[in-house]
Amino acid sequence: MRILDSCIGCKMCVPYCPMNAIEVVDKKAVIDLDECVECGTCLKAGVCPTGSLEMEETLPPARQLRKNFSDPWVSHPTTNVPGRGTEEMKTNEVTGRFKRGFCGIAAELGRPGVGTRFYDVEKVAKACAEFGVEFEPLNPVTSIMTDTATGAIDPQYHNEKALSAIVEFICPNEKVTAVLKRIKEVAATLDTVFSLDICCRADEDGTFAMDAYVKEAGIKASINGKTNIGLGRPRAND
Ligand code: SF4
Ligand code: SF4
Repeated sequence: MRILDSCIGCKMCVPYCPMNAIEVVDKKAVIDLDECVECGTCLKAGVCPTGSLEMEETLPPARQLRKNFSDPWVSHPTTNVPGRGTEEMKTNEVTGRFKRGFCGIAAELGRPGVGTRFYDVEKVAKACAEFGVEFEPLNPVTSIMTDTATGAIDPQYHNEKALSAIVEFICPNEKVTAVLKRIKEVAATLDTVFSLDICCRADEDGTFAMDAYVKEAGIKASINGKTNIGLGRPRAND
């Protein structure tokens, strides 16, 4: 994102920036590039009277990474997945990914107004990797790992910032409580806000194995969780 000389300092764009990265100094808007996540919201708001906001056509890799994770209008180019997590985890599990005996877990770091740096994302990924979890290959965070066995993220991206990023993986039931406890420990060291998603198939009697693991880990589940009501045709047979 850049601002052209035609800016008249009207401040119309300022409240649209979710990272508070725009400031008007001497009647010219100035963007703090360390905070700007290239989301394009200021431009898409369409409020600039002089057409002074402009997205750069070609971004260097680190800036492009910010955009890939922060612009909600585009699919992530490395995975072709829209949004920051995969559909199975976030909305509708129709591919049979989550088998009986396993839970899907997603750690969501950052929100508009706060964002997240990738060194914090790596802290969570590495903590979960200690338990041999299987990171989701179609998740954008997995795509920038240099080693999915350790959860290490390419160092060139560690200090980059995004609106949010999701660490997503599958974990055998017997390890879920320990993983959740470890995530709680790491969460206390993060410089951002954090939420946790967990999902599994319902058992025959309508109960969910994950309920016990969440309780054992000392986590209070929110009543605002999403419920998969089986839209589409689930392909899991067992
Ligand atoms: S691109 Fe997004 S983060 Fe950057 S200045 Fe515009 S609204 Fe703010
Ligand atoms: S809306 Fe346009 S003219 Fe007004 S401060 Fe922002 S960039 Fe400058």
